[in-house]
Amino acid sequence: MVKRALDLWWVKRPHLFMSNRTVKIALWNKDPRCHWCKRPTILTNLPYIKGSPDPRMATIDHVVSRYHAQRWVKKQPREKRRVLACYECNHNRSTQETLNIPREEIMKRSQGFSLSPKGKPKIIKPVATIDEALKKLNSSK
Ligand SMILES: [Zn+2]
Repeated sequence: MVKRALDLWWVKRPHLFMSNRTVKIALWNKDPRCHWCKRPTILTNLPYIKGSPDPRMATIDHVVSRYHAQRWVKKQPREKRRVLACYECNHNRSTQETLNIPREEIMKRSQGFSLSPKGKPKIIKPVATIDEALKKLNSSK
């Protein structure tokens, strides 16, 4: 009885438990094609990657990169920030982007969220506006 009630509670509030994998499966079920190249992706269930992953492997890509201050601004109610992308597109996008930005700029811009406290993130929680995000990222503290 208790278990059933709990299951229902969970089913009604999936957003509270959306892990990256859950998000990926939800996106994949809606449309298994890559957001960028439109080729179908493959949903894999690997606990870790052995060797080079399949280029068609489904991954979650962030529309707004971590180098962009917009990433640290609170989402609009219906804004989509995560999309399904094949491993190849996701990987190429991040590699290209990093290559196109000078190193000091990368160091400066990636000081938003960080899972490691050693990264000394300047922004811990999403802020309301892009101005606020820029102000924090540019402050020397
Ligand atoms: Zn792709």
